[in-house]
Order: sequence, then C-alpha cells, then structure tokens
Amino acid sequence: MNDRYSRQILFPGIGKAGQEKLLGSSVAIIGCGALGASHAEMLSRAGVGHLRIVDRDFVEFTNLQRQTLFKEADAIERLPKAIAAQIRIGEINSEIEVEAVVADVNRSNVESIIANADVILDGTDNFQIRYLLNDACVKLGKTWIYGAAVSSYGTTMTIIPGETPCLRCIFEDMPDAGSSPTCDTAGVIMPIIATISAVQVSEAIKILVGDRDALHGSLMQFDVWQNDWRKIKLAAPNPDCRTCGEHVYDFLDSESPEFAAVLCGRDAVQISPPDSTSFDLSAFGAKLTSLSDVKQNDYLVRFRIDGNEITVFRDGRAIIKGTDDISAARSLYARYVGAEYRSVRGTRQ
Ligand SMILES: [Zn+2]
Repeated sequence: MNDRYSRQILFPGIGKAGQEKLLGSSVAIIGCGALGASHAEMLSRAGVGHLRIVDRDFVEFTNLQRQTLFKEADAIERLPKAIAAQIRIGEINSEIEVEAVVADVNRSNVESIIANADVILDGTDNFQIRYLLNDACVKLGKTWIYGAAVSSYGTTMTIIPGETPCLRCIFEDMPDAGSSPTCDTAGVIMPIIATISAVQVSEAIKILVGDRDALHGSLMQFDVWQNDWRKIKLAAPNPDCRTCGEHVYDFLDSESPEFAAVLCGRDAVQISPPDSTSFDLSAFGAKLTSLSDVKQNDYLVRFRIDGNEITVFRDGRAIIKGTDDISAARSLYARYVGAEYRSVRGTRQ
C-alpha cells in the first residue's frame, strides 16, 4: 500500500484496520447521475476495492453542472455514464476495480446486480427503481442507503433489513407518477447533491469498517437554500410492512414486465425488449446508412427521425426523445428498432 490513504488512516474512525476492510469491500452504485457520480468519486478516492456502477443513460450537457465525474468530451461523444465514470475513476485510483454496467435496473436483473455487494447506494432518480431495490435488498438481506435530491432539498435514510425500517415501512405507497417534482421540472443545485451524497457515503464507510454505532439512525432532511436541517429518529421496523414484515415483494414479483417507461420530465420514453441477448448493435447501426445524422460508438447508436431522437443501446434498449407518448414511442421502436431486432433474432434461428 502506498501512502495515498494516510490521512484517512489517521482518522480514528477508520484506521489501518478500517482501510483494509475498505480495500476488501464491494459497493454497488445504482444510477450514476449526480448522486451516483458523487458516490463513485468519494468511494474510489477512499479506496473501496470494488465498485459496480450501474446506469442506463448517456452523458448530456445538462448533466455537467452537477455530475462531477463527467466532462464536455463525454457529452460530445455521448458516452454511457457508467463507462465515462469507469474511465474517470481509472484516472483517479487505478488500484481499485470498477465494473461498468450499462443497463436498466429491472426485476429480472436487480438481484444479480446487488448479489455480491456489501452495501448498495441509491443514486437513482425515481421511485419505481427505489421500491424495486427495496424489495430486492430486503429479500437478500442487503443494506442500502436511500438518497434523493431535487431543487435545494434532499432526504436520506440507511436501511438495514431486519434492523431498521425499510423504505416501505416509512412510505407505504409509491408516490404517483408526476406527483413529485423532479430535477427536470424543479431544477436542482449541486450543493444539495454534495450534501446528500456526503451523508450517504459516510454511512456506507461506517458500515464497511464495522462502526454501526456511528450510523445516524434517522430520516435526514436538508434544505441548503432555506437552511432547514432535520433529523427524524426512526422507530423499529413496522411489523405490518408488506416488504420487511410480511416478505411479500410486490415490485420484484409483479407480473407485468416493464416494457416501456416514460422518463419523467425528460420528454422521453424508454423501451426495453424483454429478451435482449441476441441484439447486435453494430449490425443494427450498419443498416441505418439511409438515415441522416447517425452517430455510433461501441455502446450506442443514435439517429433522428420525424423530430425524434432515438438512442439504441447494446442491450436493445432504446430511449426515444421528443415524446412522452408511450404508444408513439412503441411504434417508432417497432418501425426502426423492433423489426430489425426481430430480424436479427430471426436470422439466428
Ligand atoms: Zn418495511
């Protein structure tokens, strides 16, 4: 070990033994937007040995104001966020392992994504994934750290299944789509991202080094503009909670596969094929030569059609910008991606 961690080892809460535990730890970061990029940077500098960074999206110029790992070239190249983060972290700390997963977290992959992690950090921007993550973490007994930030305020809570209330103990029902402000409707400033992610990462480090007594044990709320900081002490888990009391995993076991989802506030719809194992991105991109303005890299193909911008990823998933109408988006997918997807699959049978 070189002296890169010397100042952290001097800190009594960590010490040499704590540093060794961090180097032997694995953390999954779900979502690599503003919160997730901040988690990834802090944990990589702290020397957490293995980071798995999961994100479905690519870098855009609107991200640069607050998503600290990314730079202009990433937005110009439209690199997937997980890949851009992996590249940047490789420059920050080449001694740790970083695994980039460009995927939408859904009920078919969430359990395998978190299976080997010691702690899971919430860097997502929507409740659909958080409730799914809560189900999966309670089912597998994994600690996860909820975090959310919008405008100038944010909330965070550490969830240890069986010991502390889970997300559903506190918020029994998922908020209705469109009922809460998002970063795209209400905006967001970077200081609240730094505040929430700092508390989340502090909690993660306490857990990884084994200092459970130092955990804050509450629902913490901050507003850095109104100067309002609150700490609501948590009671025991609710014995009637569907998830951690009755062990019914509504979000994980839901019968309806998520094929399409409106990306809230972004004027975009995401379409995910149920089986993406045989999608061939380079073959798909090569067949779009008749269209103008096709951009392709190793991770995605982007093209424009009828005022919409369609980005197709290696897993066959597409983000269709310029509409929030799911049926219009499905029809564009079927016309430009889906048919191709089926034919690619068909040629292999
Ligand atoms: Zn619960």
